[in-house]
Amino acid sequence: MIIVMKEGVSRAQIDHVFDRVRELGYKIHPIYGEKRTVIGAIGDERGKFRLKSLESVPGVESVIPILKPFKLVGSELRKEKTVVNVGENAAFGSDQFVIIAGPCSVENRDQIIKTAQRVKKAGARLLRGGAFKPRTSPYSFQGLEEEGLELLAEAREKSGLKIVTEVITPQDIPLVARFTDVLQIGARNMQNYALLKQVGLLDKPILLKRGLSATVNEWLMSAEYIVSQGNPNVILCERGIRTFENSTRNTLDLSSVPLIKKLSHLPVIVDPSHGTGVPELVTPMSKAAAACGADGIIVEVHYNPETALSDGEQSLSPDQFDELVKALKPIIKAEGRTL
Ligand code: PEP
Ligand code: MN
Repeated sequence: MIIVMKEGVSRAQIDHVFDRVRELGYKIHPIYGEKRTVIGAIGDERGKFRLKSLESVPGVESVIPILKPFKLVGSELRKEKTVVNVGENAAFGSDQFVIIAGPCSVENRDQIIKTAQRVKKAGARLLRGGAFKPRTSPYSFQGLEEEGLELLAEAREKSGLKIVTEVITPQDIPLVARFTDVLQIGARNMQNYALLKQVGLLDKPILLKRGLSATVNEWLMSAEYIVSQGNPNVILCERGIRTFENSTRNTLDLSSVPLIKKLSHLPVIVDPSHGTGVPELVTPMSKAAAACGADGIIVEVHYNPETALSDGEQSLSPDQFDELVKALKPIIKAEGRTL
């Protein structure tokens, strides 16, 4: 429920409503506007009618239901956009169009450092690279694990880029969080609620990819899991969904971007690499992502795609990545954003 306070109420009146909401067993999420305070009461849906009685409390104007199941990440309670900062490097959800680039997996020192330096020069703000890889086959390369994290940290030091890498189990979270700036929850884990709850306890940003067959509602509910644990810094990532179409790896659902912008205050970026699986489609879909309001892109770049241990067939070479950034610039400008 949303409790809308009257204009000009006193602090004591607001505090009294907080106490009453808590007594009824709900958590409070106050939003202090210029004129009014609005209080979100978050908790068990079943007893929410009891909150209606607060309409008789002095200072309360109205008590209205939040209609969407995602209370904290939805735009009903919070109109202001969330900006997720990654140090000084990036501000997702601001005027910046943030580019994340790097290999699918960290393979060796030379590979990650050379790639980091090239993508940095081209305009990327963050470096991606998997150290723990959720592969379809148990016989495929599974990532360098801790060694991969160390190499990412070294690449951060040498390039100045912040890093994003995936965590695939709750028990690896402390290790991954020790090294990385942003933790990625991959598509295959979007509904791993134990993992979502644990990353919700961190104070680092989370990149939450859309599940292969998840609806936008389910995706937002997964974000709600993270935010409800206390971590508000969630960046959503559209990476394509599975459909009957098989000439692309996935069907990149760009309509989810403006839809998310309508339903939520969280930033959303696009992954045209996994979204299409076809290198020639990465630039056009990146341009489309910028044009439909995405807050950035995450692109797979390998210094020699032919030799990549994972996803080489969809990775761009550094030269192709330079071209991509060049092609994006006019669109970013037309959208009133900066790189
Ligand atoms: C990845 O980013 O390398 C990855 C495995 O992506 P997704 O979870 O979207 O498949
Ligand atoms: Mn990949």
